[in-house]
Amino acid sequence: MESSSHPLLEEETMGAASPSSVLAALDDVRGWQEEFYRDLHEHPELSHQEQRTAARVSERLGQIGFEVHQEVGGTGILGVLENGDGSVVLLRADMDALPVREATGLSYASTVTATDAAGTKVPVAHACGHDVHVTCLLGAAQLLAAAPDQWAGTVVAVFQPAEETGDGARGMLEDDLAGLIPTPDVALAQHVLPAPAGHVGTRAGPVLSAADSLRIILYGRGAHGSMPQAAVDPVVLAAMIVVRLQTIVSRETPPGETAVLTVGSIQAGTKSNVIPDHAVLQLNIRTYSEQTRATILDAVRRIVTAECQASGCPKEPEFELFDSFPLTDNEPATTDRVATAFGEFFGERAGPMGQQTASEDFSDIPAALGVPYTYWGIGGIDVETYRRAEAAGRVAQDIPVNHSASFAPVIQPTIDTGTAALVVAALCWLAR
Ligand code: ZN
Ligand code: ZN
Repeated sequence: MESSSHPLLEEETMGAASPSSVLAALDDVRGWQEEFYRDLHEHPELSHQEQRTAARVSERLGQIGFEVHQEVGGTGILGVLENGDGSVVLLRADMDALPVREATGLSYASTVTATDAAGTKVPVAHACGHDVHVTCLLGAAQLLAAAPDQWAGTVVAVFQPAEETGDGARGMLEDDLAGLIPTPDVALAQHVLPAPAGHVGTRAGPVLSAADSLRIILYGRGAHGSMPQAAVDPVVLAAMIVVRLQTIVSRETPPGETAVLTVGSIQAGTKSNVIPDHAVLQLNIRTYSEQTRATILDAVRRIVTAECQASGCPKEPEFELFDSFPLTDNEPATTDRVATAFGEFFGERAGPMGQQTASEDFSDIPAALGVPYTYWGIGGIDVETYRRAEAAGRVAQDIPVNHSASFAPVIQPTIDTGTAALVVAALCWLAR
């Protein structure tokens, strides 16, 4: 965003809901934001290990006048800024990085390694762009804190750990997030995406899928590879199940409904002439409605149980649900309000966002607090690079997506845009 040349920044609208007067100070925060971003990017931390990030966040929040709560749900940080009567707006950023070896070639690329929850040494990188989210929210917090006469109400800044493991929001809620903050009227969050930098996208209704992972243990009977008559072969059983599971989306889900069922892992046996006694499947399921989610999970259970029976398994299969993410279902009126404000402020750089098959745990917070929410996307890819790939029909091949080792948002206009988006959206509720 070229803030100084933005037409809305030139006009002074007395008493109206104008983000321009707050964002006029964007030039003052840009310098430290870019430095802060590079530092975060160079020092990524795995889910539940965000100590350094949290310390930097809480230091900054304290400096700009927020009341700060530390160690909420582990490494979570809450900042509260009260500014008279008015609405309470919750803004959320996630802080964690991923076990990915960064291959961006950036001068501030991560070379960090850490020990993950399983005790394995892994490379760590901000391959999902959560460092962008943290930097933008801190900038928005400072801009609002610096212009108290331009708005009224309360800003709650939530810096959430462990989004990637799907349990960071729940952890903060279980650690009394609700008791530490005034009840919000609305909750807002954003994500940087492989779209043109400087652009923002909104969407009412389901925008991110619900996700569930499922571990299934199939019990057969082991035997010598030359004596199949003595075995219940879990390898053949697992193969039948993998094929049969493909019919859940193709034959049991309505054609207009989007759903994904992937068998991402299948493990059995150690040697060619030993029939193993069990097999383990790991599934990942993405859905856009609670009903479809329930239908698919039921179908998986039904098919697996029946196939085990068909094979004559000596023991029932075991099912373990893990890494569950809720549906992100943007409340229409809230989304309209933000989309209108984005349209007014960003002009052509605001538009609709497509439904994403990715998942998020942000909505656990507004769901637990009983408040409406909306979640939008901001682009992070250099506009020229993106347009070239688009013209060549090579976006999917040439533009690195979140979680890839090469995902590298351009610092500007990404940070300016994400910061402005938070301010513009918050002022929909906070403007005097
Ligand atoms: Zn991610
Ligand atoms: Zn993410």
